Amino acid sequence: MSNIEEYKTTHIVKEELILKIFVIGYSPMGESIVILVMADNIVKFSAVIDCFESSTTNLTLDILKEYNIEELNLICLTHPDKDHCKGLEKVLEKINSKTKILYPTNIFNDSYYDRDVKIAVGKIGELFALRKDDSNKPILKGCAGNNLIQTMEFQHETNGYRYPLYINTYSPVSEINDRYSAKNFLKGENIYHNAHNNLSIMSSLSLGDFKVLLCSDIENDSIDIVKRDLNQDGRDFFSYAIDFFKIPHHCSNGSKNILNLLKNILIPTSVTTVYRVGNVSLPDKQMLEQYKAKLDTIYCTSNIKENENKYGYGIVEVTVNIFNRTIKIEDMKYDSVQIK
Ligand SMILES: [Zn+2]
Repeated sequence: MSNIEEYKTTHIVKEELILKIFVIGYSPMGESIVILVMADNIVKFSAVIDCFESSTTNLTLDILKEYNIEELNLICLTHPDKDHCKGLEKVLEKINSKTKILYPTNIFNDSYYDRDVKIAVGKIGELFALRKDDSNKPILKGCAGNNLIQTMEFQHETNGYRYPLYINTYSPVSEINDRYSAKNFLKGENIYHNAHNNLSIMSSLSLGDFKVLLCSDIENDSIDIVKRDLNQDGRDFFSYAIDFFKIPHHCSNGSKNILNLLKNILIPTSVTTVYRVGNVSLPDKQMLEQYKAKLDTIYCTSNIKENENKYGYGIVEVTVNIFNRTIKIEDMKYDSVQIK
C-alpha cells in the first residue's frame, strides 16, 4: 500500500522546464544516477540514486559540483552492494532537514557487507542516530512494497498547465524480507542466493507526462511480485508508455521478466551499465538482443569491448524539455557509447 505525502510546493515556470538524467557507469563495475529538474535554468529538484567512485574520480560529486548542489532533495541507496554504494557517504553529506533518504527497510539487519557498503550503510545509521530535533536530521525512509515518495509541481506561467513530479518506489522482496530477518533470508532457499539484488528499490519518476523507469538491480523474483501486486490493487504502472528506461541489473538474464511488463511500444531511450567481475560479464549478449527488440535506442556507459575503454567510466546525459517534449542525448561522455 502506498504512503502518499503531498508536497504542496508549486513552482511557476516562465520559459523552460528541463529534466536531466545522468546515468553514470564505471568499468568493470559501479553505477550512479543523478536527476535534476530545472525551471528557467534554476535547479528546483535534485536526486542521487546510488554512488560509485574510482580511486581518482567520483562523477556523482562532480556533477553536483557543476550545478552548485549542496543540498539534495532525495538520496536513494537501492541495495547494499559495493557497485552501488562506494562513496555514497560523501553524497550523504549533502543534505538538510528536508532531504529524503531512501533505502531497503531491512538494510541494517545484515552484517555480511563488504567494507565500502558498511561505510555507506553506517553513514545512514549515523543520520538515524541524530536526535529528532537536530536541525540537520534528514527524513529517513525504509522502503518496502510500493510507495509514492514525493510530489512537487510545476506550473507554466502563461498557459497555466501543471506538471506534477511523482516518484514511486517498488521494493517488493524487501517487504517479504521484512517479515523475517535478513539473516534467515540469506541462509534460506537457493533461489534467494542473490538476495541483495532482490532487495533493490526500483523507482519510477514522472514529470508531466514524461515517464522514467529506473530498475536498479531488481531481478525476476521481485519483478514477478511487482507484476502480481500491481495487478492486485488495480494500479498498472506499466499500462502507459515509458519514455526513459534504465535496464535492470546491468542487462542480466536474471532480470529478463521485466520484458513481460513492458508494453509493445518501443521505449525511445534506454541505458545500461556494465558489470564484469569474476566470471560474470554483463550486459549479457543474448539479453541485449532481446532488449533491442523492445527498445528504440540503447546507450551503455562503457564500451561493450572492455579493451576499448579509455577512461574506465562514462556518462549518458539525457536532457528532456518537458514543455515541447524533446529529448536530447548529449555527446557520449568518456567511454559511453550507443549500442542500438
Ligand atoms: Zn549492480
